[in-house]
Order: sequence, then C-alpha cells, then structure tokens
Amino acid sequence: MGKASSIQPVLRAALAVFGILSASVAALPASAADCPGNPGALGTSRTLVVDPKEHPRIGTMQYDETLPLQDHEVVLTFDDGPLPPHSGKVLDILASQCVKATFFIIGRMARSFPEGVRRVRDAGHSIGTHTQNHPLSMNRMPIDRARQEIDEGIAATEAALGRAGGMAPFFRIPGLLRAEAVEDYLASKGIQTWSADFPADDWHHISPARVYEIAIRRLEAKGKGILLLHDIQGRTVAALPRILETLKARGYRIVHVVPATPEQPKTPTEPREWHLHPVSETVAIARWPKIPGFVFARSEMLPAPAAPDLDWRGGRLSLTRTRPFARGAVPPAPSWPRPSPQAANAAITLPIPDSSVFEIGHKVSPAFRQAVIPLPRHAERAATRIANNTGAAAKPISFNAPASRHLIPGSVPLAHRGLKRAPVTARQPDAAAWRKMSGD
Ligand SMILES: [Zn+2]
Repeated sequence: MGKASSIQPVLRAALAVFGILSASVAALPASAADCPGNPGALGTSRTLVVDPKEHPRIGTMQYDETLPLQDHEVVLTFDDGPLPPHSGKVLDILASQCVKATFFIIGRMARSFPEGVRRVRDAGHSIGTHTQNHPLSMNRMPIDRARQEIDEGIAATEAALGRAGGMAPFFRIPGLLRAEAVEDYLASKGIQTWSADFPADDWHHISPARVYEIAIRRLEAKGKGILLLHDIQGRTVAALPRILETLKARGYRIVHVVPATPEQPKTPTEPREWHLHPVSETVAIARWPKIPGFVFARSEMLPAPAAPDLDWRGGRLSLTRTRPFARGAVPPAPSWPRPSPQAANAAITLPIPDSSVFEIGHKVSPAFRQAVIPLPRHAERAATRIANNTGAAAKPISFNAPASRHLIPGSVPLAHRGLKRAPVTARQPDAAAWRKMSGD
C-alpha cells in the first residue's frame, strides 16, 4: 500500500498540471488503502458530480443522454428498497468491496423501514426516490396524481433520513413508464430522471446465475453504463458478489454519482460525453470497429523467414519465386484466401435475443408484497377486476398491459373505466428499444 498511495497524489498532481481530463485524474484506481480489510476490493474508482438541471434525463434505455462514463466504467443502481433482510445484505456486500451505488427508495418502504434508509445514507451511497407507492401507470395517470406520488415519495424518504438529510435530487420512474409531463415536473423541481443503460431482469423469476449472466453480458455489450438492479430481491443478493468479482477481474471500475452542491461543484465534462455514442461516431467512416486494447498472452515473436525462402532480385524483396513481370504486363491476380462457406454463414448468424428481454414488467415479489401494508382480499380482487375490465383500454400501451396486476398492495388502482389517459408522446421501452438498448 505504501508505494501506491504515495505515488498516486504525485500522479494526480502531475496530470492536473498538464491539463489532462479531470475524469482521468479521478479514474486512477482506488488503492488497497481505500478498502480496509480487503486489499483486493473492487473499490470505487471515482466520484462523478452531476448537475441535474443541466442533464435532466439520463439513461440510453429511453433517453439520448446518459452519464458521461469512460469505457469500462459502471454505475450501480438499486430500486424498490429498503426491505429487510435483502437490502441490508446488499449493503454488506457493497461495503465489503468498498463500492458506492445509488438507491431509488420507495416512500412507503421508507415509512415502513426508516432505519434501512438511514443505513444507506450512512454507508455513503446516493439516495434518490422512486415514488410513494410504486404505481406502474405513471405513463397514463393524471399529472396531479403523478406529482402526488413523486412528492409523497420524497417526503417519506426525507422523513426517514431526519434532520441529517442526505437525499440526492435523483428519481427513477417505476417500471420506467415515462411520460413527458412527469419528466417535466421532475425537471421543474431540479430533479434528474434516471432511466438506465441496461437492466439485469432481476425482478423476473429467474435464477441468480441468470441475473449474473444477463448483467455481465449486457455490460460487456456496451462496455460501460448504468446497471439497474433491485435490492429487495434475494436473487440479486445471491448474484451480486459474483457480479462484483467479475467486474474486478475484467477491469471494470465503479463510479459513484452525486449531485453538485455549492461546496462540491460538478465534474467538468464535454456535452458529447453525455452520449453513449459520441456525435463524431455517427459519421460512417468513424464506425469501423476500434482496435481493442489487446493484452498479449504471449510476447515472443514469430520466427523470421529463413533467407532461402526469400528471393532477392535487383535489391527488391519478393516472396514468390516467379520472374518479375515486364513493363505493361498484367500482374497475376493475388491469391487471397477464399472465405470458407462456414465463415460466411457464421457472419450472418446473429444471436437470438432472449425471450425474457421482451417480457417487460415490474413483478413484485411475495416478500415485497408482505413487507408493505397487507392487502385485504377484496382489494386484490378489485384490482384484478379493474385490470381485466381495462385490458382493452390499456392495450395501446402494451408494455404496461399487465401492470395493474402488480400494484403495490394497498395502493390506489389508478386505471379504471372512463379514466382519461394522458397522451404518451415519447419513447417507452418497447420490445425493440429494450433489445437495442440493453445490448441484446
Ligand atoms: Zn421499481
């Protein structure tokens, strides 16, 4: 630790003097000293300070902009908590690796488990909110109702945190069911709407191994980005240690995002850094694959051809033993290797997206259901009836068709006959968008 920690400040200072991007300075890997008790920890490589007012909507699953991350940088986000014991276990795992993340708290959960919210704050993570009741209908509910959901969620989280505060003006819409009016309201309050760059589908009934596999595969496809996880899911708790281990092994770095304050000004960035594919790369010629940063497994050189294999004529090197052709003669066609039929087939065989990618929803686990206010049987039946009755009305927003079956117990069902839906003017994460954005 001694050497690394004494060299780092010098390096940082030197880079700063030479005007290297501040992000690069902060991106120096965390030294072992940063994570007591775990010298091999993944750590948090840098803190990115953002101004929500300048970039009100982020996450390429739905928006043009996303966080200005460098290649191999990852931001971890956890939704729907806090819920014991899972949220506590997630915090333990993150602490063991000295990793900082962003949590999107549900107001009702904060009211039920206020100490869980304080624990997130005390561990140094960023705290955003995720509405009061987690309605999966913000894309079609009246804006007054949506505002109420947002405001109550913030108030409940603030109440849990107490006077010490510690909330960030970050918000994630439940189920990512966005609506322009909702985003505009959030922006008017100086709150940043967070979508994500890829989910790990950990709200589905899949195994922890599958959560791990999806998280890593989608991250590898994009090379960087905001990962959406849920700290209320046992499968996420089970998958998280291996996810972090793999991030470390493959050279990924964790970035902690915090809001700008008068004491902590925003990290300087260029506008183009807020796009996953910078503008310059939309020019066709710039879309050729980049040369990857190979790490050579073997460094010895190939044997040089022996002198008799070469044919020196008139000081010119020729690798063939043919006679030099006369001036004006047509040179023989080069014998390029022909593509084999197998290679041609391989080139057009694209991977088939997993069916789970299209199954968008926000299923609520039984634990989550029980944790909040118990739902009387008749209310559940009513919710089902409403879901059935409004099936046709909800069709145009097919993404959300099953949503009302997954309302948080006790929440007011918002879709009913005769209810006017707010117009949906922009992009919902339909199947194609999810496939595109999640890198499948
Ligand atoms: Zn959620």
